[in-house]
Amino acid sequence: MVAEQLQNVRAEIRKACEKSGRNPEEVTLIAVSKTKPISMIREAMDAGQTIFGENKVQELCTKYEELPKNLEWHLIGHLQRNKVKYIADKAALIHSVDSLRLAETINHEGEKIQRVIPVLIEVNVAQEETKFGVSVEETMSLIEEICKLPYVQIQGLMTIAPYVPDPEENRPVFRKLKQLSVDISSKNMNNVHMDILSMGMTNDYQVAVEEGATMVRVGTGIFGERDYSKTK
Ligand SMILES: *Cc1c(COP(=O)(O)O)cnc(C)c1O
Repeated sequence: MVAEQLQNVRAEIRKACEKSGRNPEEVTLIAVSKTKPISMIREAMDAGQTIFGENKVQELCTKYEELPKNLEWHLIGHLQRNKVKYIADKAALIHSVDSLRLAETINHEGEKIQRVIPVLIEVNVAQEETKFGVSVEETMSLIEEICKLPYVQIQGLMTIAPYVPDPEENRPVFRKLKQLSVDISSKNMNNVHMDILSMGMTNDYQVAVEEGATMVRVGTGIFGERDYSKTK
């Protein structure tokens, strides 16, 4: 089942690229495996998937230890400063940096292990109160501070769009994040790259790809609905 769903998502990404005149190779699919067992991740691996996303530090670490080391693990959820040390050497990319204090902690942990840690700045484009992320207005000034940290490298932006019945409703959100990345890119700041736009989830990744996403984070569309009743 996982293999089939993966192929379906990949086909949808190709279609969205065709529709918008993009090269499908510009779009990286992150299989969001949170709450899902190792056996399902192995199924995805057998179907050629090597990049996985987790939103909890503990779960990322456990899966990292249990699975082959050729996989890439992305931390996509909110990150507490006291947990950075556990993933400093494991996360291929941290998608959820939204404060200078968090970036400073990542910098500190990066220095300890002599690794420049790649991050994205999480932007709360839709201004949802319940969500993490920096506002569009504050993004530039935050980046101007974070780019001074030698063990942190900003590679782009990430957003979590609202859950909406019609994915078209999120098109303006994705367009706004893309425009913001173009604006930031034009400033040519040292140590700042705007190569990655992480946007789009199961419900709306096709629209996100049409609007320029270079990473989509798909969980349910690959692994099926999550069951939270058994966790804790
Ligand atoms: C869970 C999660 C996803 C995947 O959500 P689906 O709707 O299952 O595709 C993507 N991004 C983040 C930050 C998440 O926490």
